[in-house]
Amino acid sequence: MREPQSIAVNEDSRLVPVWSIMAAAAAFVLVEYYFWLVLPDGKHPMPLGLRIYFNFSWGLLAALYFLMVGFVSKDAPRRAMSTRFWIAICFVMPGGIGAVLYFLLRAPVVSRCPACSTHVQSDFHFCPQCDYQLAANCGNCFRTVRATDQFCTRCGHELATDHMPARLRVLGE
Ligand SMILES: [Zn+2]
Ligand SMILES: [Zn+2]
Repeated sequence: MREPQSIAVNEDSRLVPVWSIMAAAAAFVLVEYYFWLVLPDGKHPMPLGLRIYFNFSWGLLAALYFLMVGFVSKDAPRRAMSTRFWIAICFVMPGGIGAVLYFLLRAPVVSRCPACSTHVQSDFHFCPQCDYQLAANCGNCFRTVRATDQFCTRCGHELATDHMPARLRVLGE
């Protein structure tokens, strides 16, 4: 019998790293500086409201770019996806298409089996390599149940009558 353990959650829960927030702020300031001071439009003066709107939008867009790259750099490893590849995609694809592609194609979050360290996806109930129970489920219909449930919400099965009550195993006692 293996020792029950809590499933290793990703230790670093921060999804947007500090450097990307700093880079985003710097990019915003730089864009504002460029549009307000370096790029004077003497010949075709725009109404001030429109100018504020455009300059602000470009600044936000530039900032968003860095936040996105920061997010991908944190999120991709959690899903066992190539970080370098996806950051490159985000940079190369114009207008945030890279980010859209990333969100469409990203794999489910992976963690490691506490018993054998195999990569397992968040929706797995059992480890594919060692049969370790990763999530509480009903012993009758095998659907996911909450660790604190007494009865299965789908079939009414009394969870305490399972050979090894899933909820107790998950709770670690
Ligand atoms: Zn395992
Ligand atoms: Zn059930």
